[in-house]
Amino acid sequence: MSLPLSDYEKRKQISVRGLAGVENVSDLKKNFNRHLHFTLVKDRNVATPRDYYFALAHTVRDHLVGRWIRTQQYYYEKDPKRIYYLSLEFYMGRTLQNTMVNLGLQNACDEATYQLGLDMEELQEIEEDAGLGNGGLGRLAGSQDFWVSSPALGGEGVVVVRAGSLDSWVTFPGLPLLSLCCEQGLERAHAASEATGPFCGWDCTGLEWVGECPILTCPSFLQFFEGKELRLKQEYFTVAATLQDIIRRFKSSKFGSRDPVRTSFDAFPDKVAIQLNDTHPSLAIPELMRVLVDIEKLDWDKAWDITVRTCAYTNHTVLPEALERWPVHLLETLLPRHLEIIYEINQRFLDVINAMFPGDFDRLRRMSLVEESGIKRINMAHLCIVGSHAINGVARIHSDIIKKSVFKDFYELEPQKFQNKTNGITPRRWLVLCNPGLAEVIAERIGDEYISDLDHLKKLLAYVDDEGFIRDVAKIKQENKLKFAAYLEKEYKVKINPNSLFDVQVKRIHEYKRQLLNCLHVITLYNRIKKDPNQHFVPRTVMIGGKAAPGYHIAKMIIKLVTAIGDVINNDPIIGDRLKMIFLENYRVSLAEKVIPAADLSEQISTAGTEASGTGNMKFMLNGALTIGTMDGANVEMAEEAGEENLFIFGMRVEDVEEMDRKGYCAKDYYDRIPELRQVIDQLSSGFFSPKQPQLFKDIVNMLMNNDRFKVFADYEAYIKCQENVSALYKNTKEWTKKVIKNIATSGKFSSDRTIAQYAREIWGVELKSHGHPSTNKAEGVTVP
Ligand code: PLP
Repeated sequence: MSLPLSDYEKRKQISVRGLAGVENVSDLKKNFNRHLHFTLVKDRNVATPRDYYFALAHTVRDHLVGRWIRTQQYYYEKDPKRIYYLSLEFYMGRTLQNTMVNLGLQNACDEATYQLGLDMEELQEIEEDAGLGNGGLGRLAGSQDFWVSSPALGGEGVVVVRAGSLDSWVTFPGLPLLSLCCEQGLERAHAASEATGPFCGWDCTGLEWVGECPILTCPSFLQFFEGKELRLKQEYFTVAATLQDIIRRFKSSKFGSRDPVRTSFDAFPDKVAIQLNDTHPSLAIPELMRVLVDIEKLDWDKAWDITVRTCAYTNHTVLPEALERWPVHLLETLLPRHLEIIYEINQRFLDVINAMFPGDFDRLRRMSLVEESGIKRINMAHLCIVGSHAINGVARIHSDIIKKSVFKDFYELEPQKFQNKTNGITPRRWLVLCNPGLAEVIAERIGDEYISDLDHLKKLLAYVDDEGFIRDVAKIKQENKLKFAAYLEKEYKVKINPNSLFDVQVKRIHEYKRQLLNCLHVITLYNRIKKDPNQHFVPRTVMIGGKAAPGYHIAKMIIKLVTAIGDVINNDPIIGDRLKMIFLENYRVSLAEKVIPAADLSEQISTAGTEASGTGNMKFMLNGALTIGTMDGANVEMAEEAGEENLFIFGMRVEDVEEMDRKGYCAKDYYDRIPELRQVIDQLSSGFFSPKQPQLFKDIVNMLMNNDRFKVFADYEAYIKCQENVSALYKNTKEWTKKVIKNIATSGKFSSDRTIAQYAREIWGVELKSHGHPSTNKAEGVTVP
């Protein structure tokens, strides 16, 4: 008789990737072969890896269909409040593996493909990222777990996609099927198609996906506000299609159709919540007013009350150049009725302000939805604030800044509207999927409940001094680094030293994120090695990745600089493999999934007060990288959770930056005072890194020296010093890993489950049901796969 299994062994069998039972595996194999044969019309003699990928995707998709139909039936019967998350971006990344993880099917699929003689990783690499977004804002919306399809919530999302990526949406079986969306109106929108297909969040009940338009293309990589007509059409289309759908559904529900002649909209805000992901879908406010007043014949006050109680606005940036301010002349030609409605909203709003603050004309000017200086514009953030019952920032510091500065007047007027919802990330994609080794060693110690309740990670604090756990965590990191090094060598033909400190900054390229500060550090290290080649150096591989907006010259020059520094340093025999600088091309979700688990150091070095939250920072923390960062965005709360001593915090705080703004920032003072900084800048000016084009980096130098809004030099010394501390600690693997464990253990707050539960309770007025691991989930509407 065999010995009973220990808890440890039992847990090992219930892998975080789900059970690979014999029956599961044999069913999957059968269905895989059925799809290869009947759906793809191929046999094993002629099938390509692509065919195998599609066969697998169809097989996995089959597991969604039943849940999807049950979800719809549940919604139909219960008619729950529906949350419409309106976003111009849904940055989804790949779907196949995410679906397997969320269904608890991954182990069984791994085993099935293995038995079929196929390589799962190779098949997964065939799927292209659905890259319908720019960065944090889009990724937040794209995180399927964010707009959960909980039976209690009934979440739905509407998105307009780019023509360029439409093919991939149509042809990938993991992604939505196309059908028709727009029922009426929209003369200018030419709605051609809509997607309706199942998606799978963690609760595995499926998710609806509505609204596609191949005509209105999304100019990607917006980071500045560009007042382009096409973009306005696209924003309007998203909003108009959504609202028609919302109104149609509401009317057909028992709440909307009590009176057969005239719909009562009294219950509308109890049945519908509209969350505006930044101002991009802000036309929802005048569009809902138009429908209620012009079509449904409600009086203005009633319509306005319904609109405000329905809409809520999330702000994502305080940088003025990114705030949408649409020229009135564009609205006049494209959306004249909406402009009229906006004027009416503004008039009534200003009447209230005027009554409260008689004679305070400057306040009226500051708060008006209409900006009169220069070309006349509508300030869309003001429209959102006035037309919503809740306004939130995405990290505590950001929500405070909103109240204290950018929207101060509005906060003074209606303080009860202002909230904070600190961003979160899904631990399914950003741990279980991308870092299975780490997920498993965590589960071995504390079980797997942390996957659906990330606060359980706190239990790891008991293992901070546990030699075995320290060893396991360090070993997993080393394995991830080796794997990433091999990937870089294969895909990019660059060889890196896997024993060096992997120092990673991946995010959109932007002056405020200060990739330039990182570059100055790398050049400083280079100069130090060259000056004293025999001195001991902690080897580093610095990787910077991210996209630049097409028209953003300095951002493009920053990329050029990173590659130019790499060309010099990486080929200098004196440097050897002690220092490398790599630009990670084509940074996207699927590359993030590879590089983040391999990082030792996460660079979060924006000027204090400029990064709303960041979500990359959280991903690194959860994956066992230590953060070097300023007290900005969610870094502040990460330091609060982990203890400031467990991050490398440096530089000016928001108050210091404000103080410097008052006194004036003079880059030349730092240049004159700090010899190492001067040397670096002189090298950039003289063409040391661009010998064939000595003037190449003159715009960067000029900006840094004469009009640097983000004060790079002011934080240079503190940053260099802090990096010295990083290198010193890195020499001691054990102490380093202890800090890593403390960070992982305290990252629970940054789960998107917490974020979404707060939106649900505090803005949408619904309670979320909690969901466990899919392999054990018995929640309503959910069956075990
Ligand atoms: N791009 C991708 C692919 C991401 O996964 C993320 C992270 O969340 C971002 C951009 C945003 O990064 P950050 O929050 O560092 O700006």
